[in-house]
Amino acid sequence: MKLIFEKSVSGRMGVTLPKPGVPKSDLNIPEEYLREDLNLPELSEIDVVRHYTSLSLKNFGVDSGFYPLGSCTMKYNPKINESIASFPGFRNSHPYQPEGGSQGALQLMYKLSNYLCEITGMDAFTLQPAAGAHGELTGLMMAKAYLKKKGEERKNILIPDSAHGTNPASSVGCGFDTIKIETNRKGTVDLEALAAAADENTAVLMITNPNTLGIFEKDIVNISKIVHSHGGLVYLDGANMNAMLGIVKPRDMGVDMMHLNLHKTFSTPHGGGGPGGGPVGVREFLKDFLPAPIIEKKKDKYILNYDVTNSIGRVKPFYGNFGVMVKAFTYIRMLGSQGLKDVAENAVLNANYLMRKLKEDYLLPYDVVCKHEFVISGENQKKDGVSTMDIAKRLLDYGFHPPTIYFPLIVKEAMMIEPTETESKQTLDEFADAMHKIAEEAKTNPDIVKSAPHITPTRRLDGVLAARKPIVKYKPSDSDV
Ligand SMILES: *Cc1c(COP(=O)(O)O)cnc(C)c1O
Repeated sequence: MKLIFEKSVSGRMGVTLPKPGVPKSDLNIPEEYLREDLNLPELSEIDVVRHYTSLSLKNFGVDSGFYPLGSCTMKYNPKINESIASFPGFRNSHPYQPEGGSQGALQLMYKLSNYLCEITGMDAFTLQPAAGAHGELTGLMMAKAYLKKKGEERKNILIPDSAHGTNPASSVGCGFDTIKIETNRKGTVDLEALAAAADENTAVLMITNPNTLGIFEKDIVNISKIVHSHGGLVYLDGANMNAMLGIVKPRDMGVDMMHLNLHKTFSTPHGGGGPGGGPVGVREFLKDFLPAPIIEKKKDKYILNYDVTNSIGRVKPFYGNFGVMVKAFTYIRMLGSQGLKDVAENAVLNANYLMRKLKEDYLLPYDVVCKHEFVISGENQKKDGVSTMDIAKRLLDYGFHPPTIYFPLIVKEAMMIEPTETESKQTLDEFADAMHKIAEEAKTNPDIVKSAPHITPTRRLDGVLAARKPIVKYKPSDSDV
């Protein structure tokens, strides 16, 4: 396929501009700022539409097929979310509008925060953080400010070894030290290891529940008690809230602070680094540390309160990614409380159904009832010389997006699969069939798996070269790359 620059025809245009109504002026642009050769593509509207449509057809998304990317909750995003987010009143509102002129937007944010409080049992939320990792950083900054105010110099963040890489990254980014807590043979936090690590230097335990193996930490109440008994705080990485909506509230697990991923659980599109939402919820005693401003209701008016005594300050320009909030709000309103509970139940049912089917061909390192996702291993296939990477690439030939692979790090040849609640039994069966065929191929015709993918627009890429020498700027000489 040609690059858009190569399709350029000198003088071709996609728009008809009106004649200028003012006389041409000599701008006297200094020589050094003059650019002769901009090299912008010149195309008609239909050229552009065809170019981008054909590019989009080479891509894979939730709208084109099953996307069981573990830890990412790639659920189908109902299109009503988009319709509501593009209401002119929402779309055209400006963050510099005075409070009086943005009551609707403020009301939506206020109500969304209240729904999130209701769902999680937390006392207050900030909607500012733009992603989960950003929420983690925000939470830890608040913990730091809180401990400082109490006159305590606690340095350590305890993190289970199954945690998402963002947990230690956020901790270090916030100036803490991290201590790894081992996972036991049941796939949950080892209580003895935790008890041994927790002491008067413990600032925060960052825990993911259900954890990244898809297993519910059923000792969570005791885990929180251990941390609290040493004066530490419990932070929940709430990226896996999809498994718990309407069933259990993090507050009841002893959680002091947490983030949610609006772009996972609450159905706003993600992938490709687009705007996200990582609201952070806290219990009452931490409310005063939230990023200012917070949205409050005074009589019948919604206001932005900048007077938050111990606030860590703003963590995002304005109030966060508003469009994402509208989509999450729409999703919650559309489903209602029963609908949200159904989400969690069906997510868990789908995961367990698929796990049982795949267990026939693949190693299941933690063979227990899972929540919304599970981890299998390609170790059996590895014996035939077929790696998990090969299996992932072969899935592309069968029309599926591969699962998350080689994560969590504690499982060799890991494949982390999250089917989500929006997939039908037929889709799950088709995926299980493809996985079964690949397991057979690994035994009878391993070369076809090892050389996959065969039918995608590009064959297997050199991942190392792409990472080490990425071509990010067009030069005419690159056109044959
Ligand atoms: C996705 C995820 C994160 C990070 O969230 P982002 O929005 O990608 O920054 C953290 N922890 C877990 C368990 C996750 O699945």
